[in-house]
Amino acid sequence: MKVLVINCGSSSLKYQLIDSETEQALAVGICERIGQEVSYLKHTPNGGDKVVLETSMKNHEIAVSMVLEALINDSYGVIKSLDEIGAVGHRVVHGGEKFAASTIITDEVIKAIEGCNDLAPLHNPANLIGIRACANLMEGVPMVAVFDTAFHQTMPPKAYLYGLPFDYYEKHKIRKYGFHGTSHSYVSKKAAEFAGLDIENSKVIVCHLGNGASISAVLNGKSIDTSMGFTPLSGLVMGTRSGDIDPSIIEFISKRENKTIDQVMNLLNKESGVWGMSEVSSDFRDINVAMDSGNEKARLAFELFVYRVAKYIGGYVAAMNGVDVIAFTAGVGENDHKVREWVCEYLGYLGVTIDLEKNKARGVEIMLTTPESKVKVCIMPTNEELAIARETVALL
Ligand code: ADP
Repeated sequence: MKVLVINCGSSSLKYQLIDSETEQALAVGICERIGQEVSYLKHTPNGGDKVVLETSMKNHEIAVSMVLEALINDSYGVIKSLDEIGAVGHRVVHGGEKFAASTIITDEVIKAIEGCNDLAPLHNPANLIGIRACANLMEGVPMVAVFDTAFHQTMPPKAYLYGLPFDYYEKHKIRKYGFHGTSHSYVSKKAAEFAGLDIENSKVIVCHLGNGASISAVLNGKSIDTSMGFTPLSGLVMGTRSGDIDPSIIEFISKRENKTIDQVMNLLNKESGVWGMSEVSSDFRDINVAMDSGNEKARLAFELFVYRVAKYIGGYVAAMNGVDVIAFTAGVGENDHKVREWVCEYLGYLGVTIDLEKNKARGVEIMLTTPESKVKVCIMPTNEELAIARETVALL
C-alpha cells in the first residue's frame, strides 16, 4: 500500500509518500510559508532532482492539493493516479490522556483531538487543518492519527505527576505528557533488536537530540519516563529552548526586565538554549566551528548541553535499575561525534567504553562501544515518517 504521511505545522506541511511493502519513500517534500504571499513547494521524487515551485498557497487545503498534483505530475510525479494512495497517516502532536495509541480518524476522533488543543495551542490546530484538508480532497481514503504523546502514556503516576496540588491534575490535566514519542518508540525497538535483546526484557535509553531534544527511559518496550513534560519546553537544553529552569526565574525576569509572562515564555522557547547561551547559533555545526576557534560562550553552551544529557541518562539508569543500551538519534545525536564522545566520558561508572574511530560515523546504524563495554551505545537513525506509515498500515 502507498501511504501519504503528513506532518502539518502552522505555516508548513511536510509530506512523504511511502510504499509500505518496500518501506521506500517514493517522494518527500515540504510546503513552506503557507498563508503568505509567496509560498514554496519543494518536492523530491526518489532518485530524481528536487523541484522547487514558487506559488501562493493561501491555506493548507491549497497546499495539500498542490502536493497531490506534484505526486501525479507527468515529469516529477511518482504515481499515475491518486487512487494509488491507500491511506494517509497524520502526525498529531498532542493526544492528551485520551490517546495512548494511534487511531483511525473519525468525526469523534477529530473532536477529541480538538479537545486537546489547549494543551498544544500552536500545534494541534495546525494538525487538524491538515486532517480536514485531506478529508476534503481525498474522500473515502482512510486516515490515521499518530500522536507524539501516545508512547509515553505508559509512564507511571510517580513519573508523570508534578508536585502541585492534586486538584490541578484533576481539573486541568497538568502532568507530564512527553513528546517525540514516535521517534522514541521506533528507535528503542530498533536499538534493542540491534543490541540482540528481547524487547520484552530490555532497558533502553533513547537520546533524541535534534533542534528539539528529549531523552526517554524505555523498560521492556514501554516508556517509563521522559525529559519533556507538560510542554516540549522542559528537560534538556535545546537549540533555542531553555529546558529545565527554576520556575521562580520566570517571575524574576518578568519583574527585572519588565516583561509580560508571554514575553518571558517566548524568551524561554525561542531565545534561550544553545542559541541564547552561545550568542552564536542554535545549530551544533556552527557551535562546533565557534568552539574550535576559541569562542568561550559556544564552549560553555556545548558543555552545558552535554552535562544535562549525561545527568538525564544517570537519572534513567536509576529509574530502571540499570541500562542495556543507550541510543543516540536525530540531527545532533546522529551526526555530532563530539556530543556523543563527551556524553560517554561521563558514563565510565557504567563501564561504557566507546571506539573513537567508530564514533566518527554519521547518520548510520552502528554500535559505538567496544566488545568489553558493559553497556552498549549505538547510533540509531530515527525515521518518524516510516514509523507513522507503519502504524497507519498496522491499524488498517
Ligand atoms: P528537528 O527535527 O528538531 O528540527 P533535527 O533532528 O533535524 O531537528 O536536528 C537538526 C539539528 O541537527 C541542527 O540544528 C543541527 O544542530 C544538528 N545537526 C545536523 N547535522 C549536523 C552535523 N553534521 N553536525 C552537528 N550537528 C548537526
